[in-house]
Amino acid sequence: MPHLENVDVHALAPQRFREVIPADRYDKFAEAFARAHTLLEGRVVWNVNSTAKGGGVAEMLQSLLAYAKGAGVDARWVVIEGDPDFFSITKRIHNHLHGAGGDKGELGDREHSAYEHTLEANGTALLEEVKSGDVVLLHDPQTAGLTRVLKEAGAVVIWRCHVGLDMPNELARGAWRFLTPYITEADAYVFSREAFQWEGLQENKMNIIPPSIDAFAPKNQEMNRATVDAILTATELIEGDRSARPTFQKVDGSEGTVSRKTQLFDLPPLQAGARVVTQVSRWDRLKDPLGVMHGFAKHVPASSEAHLILAGPSVEAVADDPEGAEVLAETHSAWQQLPAASRERIHLVCLPMEDGAENAAIVNALQRRAEIVVQKSIAEGFGLTVAEAMWKGRPVVASRIGGIQDQIEDGVTGSLIEDPHDLAEYGAALVGLLEDQSGAATMGKAAQERVRDAFLGPRHLMQYIDLIGKLIAGEQQQQ
Ligand code: UDP
Repeated sequence: MPHLENVDVHALAPQRFREVIPADRYDKFAEAFARAHTLLEGRVVWNVNSTAKGGGVAEMLQSLLAYAKGAGVDARWVVIEGDPDFFSITKRIHNHLHGAGGDKGELGDREHSAYEHTLEANGTALLEEVKSGDVVLLHDPQTAGLTRVLKEAGAVVIWRCHVGLDMPNELARGAWRFLTPYITEADAYVFSREAFQWEGLQENKMNIIPPSIDAFAPKNQEMNRATVDAILTATELIEGDRSARPTFQKVDGSEGTVSRKTQLFDLPPLQAGARVVTQVSRWDRLKDPLGVMHGFAKHVPASSEAHLILAGPSVEAVADDPEGAEVLAETHSAWQQLPAASRERIHLVCLPMEDGAENAAIVNALQRRAEIVVQKSIAEGFGLTVAEAMWKGRPVVASRIGGIQDQIEDGVTGSLIEDPHDLAEYGAALVGLLEDQSGAATMGKAAQERVRDAFLGPRHLMQYIDLIGKLIAGEQQQQ
């Protein structure tokens, strides 16, 4: 039987949101979490996904479950186990859902049976713990095939799809056809935006809940410039003032220290005071690392004195992402072919992943150290990195695709690239902001307010509470 990993989540007081959202909104949130406590008495709220670290879903679960627990809800997180074949199939589904061919493999009978085989085993393990009446949130394609067995066990099942694309193509529809039979019995579906809803699913089960970020987590918490410098210096990424200590506040309130080094390819650390533009994402072709790099080399002149830091996780770390190492190698080899003058101002970096909180603090420091944050993805469900950078008051240059469009209003809360493949347009957006520091600062301020309004945990948790409340009421009516 597979070993299900129970991810430890530290409870956090939801009351701390008083510090960051307006009072009237906080009052509504407090009402909602009091309601959740009563509503979910005697029930466990399970969240099931396929990785405990790396990527946006893991990021969000860590935070939302912590506040749910703090509000007295018995919220738990379980990670399924699969072999490399399973993960290469689910990665293929993931790519197809984004409209991309990925490894060009099939989604046919063989894939159905390998997918089902892995999930049947995980389902059996899960049923040892899940009881009738519990609420189970299944996240993404990796877990869709658990729906039936959980429904049979009497659970309330919500399937949440975190990925999607604006204009579905045949690949995406093929992935929908592959997954639809597995999720038919779910009580509700959640998509991140309206355009991502699949054709053929029951309308009355559809729900739209955009993602959110955690303002207090090591990834997003306040960090002064001296600490930013200390962290980036400690990691040997950028030289800076060493007067402060490279510390941050862990989720449990204790102090964490950044001590691991980043892996910087072929170049020494950047010099103190260097102007920095950065993209931080998984090594995935849909994040277009090659385009980010080539567009910068070609369209952002050396006279701007800006450097690009292209950062991602160390590739051994993300278990459900078998393509990471390949994409990193591809990016590195393209970098080696750049002219020497471009190579000197483009820095490929792998961030240490051994300790999630340390990794998050490094990402925080890097996003804050950047004058501009980039997310030039080809496809994006939501793009948490965008909200993270906006919350830090950074102007973000990002593609007008997926959930990025719900976050950035072009020219006001960030800068949108109409065509994600247009490297000249991307370069021009960067140059425009590098040349207009006061405009960039105004944009950054507006970006932060946008996140405060729409993309923090309270809004997200309240939508979940409403949905679960509705499903439980429906279940009680049927009895
Ligand atoms: N991330 C990270 N370390 C890295 C690269 C990415 O912590 O080295 C985080 C990033 O800060 C964000 C998440 O992974 O919180 C990625 O979420 P996003 O929605 O941007 O993209 P996804 O990876 O889910 O496609």
